[in-house]
Parts: sequence; C-alpha cells; structure tokens
Amino acid sequence: MLKTFGRWIASVIKDSISKSVSALVIAALGALATAHWWSAITNAVASCEKWVRAEVVIDRWQLILLQLCAATLCGVVLFFLWLALSSKTKLTNKDYWEDRFHGLIWQWHLDSNYNISRLVPLCEECLSEVRSEHLYVAPARMSFTCLHCGHKSDSIRGDADYQIAEGVKVQIRRKLRSGEWFEAVKAMNKKSPTTR
Ligand SMILES: [Zn+2]
Repeated sequence: MLKTFGRWIASVIKDSISKSVSALVIAALGALATAHWWSAITNAVASCEKWVRAEVVIDRWQLILLQLCAATLCGVVLFFLWLALSSKTKLTNKDYWEDRFHGLIWQWHLDSNYNISRLVPLCEECLSEVRSEHLYVAPARMSFTCLHCGHKSDSIRGDADYQIAEGVKVQIRRKLRSGEWFEAVKAMNKKSPTTR
C-alpha cells in the first residue's frame, strides 16, 4: 500500500516537473519569437516614418494641381453626402400612406399609377383592427369599434363598409391632387411614429 502511494507521489512529481519544464521552454520560445517580431515591427514603422517625413522637391504647378485634385475630391464627397441626406429627408407623395378620417387611422398602398389598394381602417388609440356596426338611423350611419381597446370612431354616413372606404379614397385622391398630403404626412409623423 505504502509502496503504491510512494510510486504515485513520485509519478506526480515527475509529471509536474516535466510539465513545468515544457511550459518554460514554450514561454522562452514565445518570448524569443515575440522579441523578433516586435523588433521587425518597430523597424518597419521607423522606416515608414522616415520615408513619409523625407523631403521631396516638386514644381509649384504640380503642387497646385495636387491641391486642385484634393479640393475636387472633397467637393464630390460633400455633394454625395448632401444627396444621400436630402433624399432621406425629402418627402414625396409616396410617403402618404396613412391619414386620419372619421376618428380612425386609415392605411393604404399607393401604386405607381396612383391606385389606392389595401385600404384598412385602424383604431386611432392603439392601431388595432376595428369592426363596423350599423347605427340603424335614417339616413343610414355606421361606426367602427376597436377590437382591442373598445374605442369608438365617429358616426359615419353610409350603410356599407365599401361605401365608407370609397368616401375615404375620394378624400385621399383629393389630398394628393391639392397637395394637402404633405401636411398630412408631417402631422402623422408627429402624432404616431408608425413605420412601414
Ligand atoms: Zn384601440
């Protein structure tokens, strides 16, 4: 028993000594390698600096030409920056895809031929879908109730969803023609930051 324990202790010591020696050798090799690379890097940096700081003689016209090139390049970069920024902030009537009518938010898709499709009424409080209901009055009127928060729209003249949607389309097209869409887009961006 003692013998096996002694042998085990001896093997552990031997093992740890061999491990430490190999670690030392690796560390020494690493230090040598990094020292070598470090001096190579500093040498490269020093020679680069020397090359960059060295004086060169050029004609004055060459200097003027270089300055003109730099100025043109700066101008081109600034122009493209301005173009990118202004196209982002410039509103077009394609940005008009949402407005408020009859106490509801209406969203739609406007195609390249100015056809309005996918017109949908939404709750102005929570942007949830709404359900229409008849008010059983004469002349016929309807209202819309939010399926999420129960908010009610104004009562709207008409006796079918499609009639009310057609009326809203008329308003959208009118605003597109008159230029009122611009104010509507700005107002909607301020009130509800919905994105598409
Ligand atoms: Zn709601």
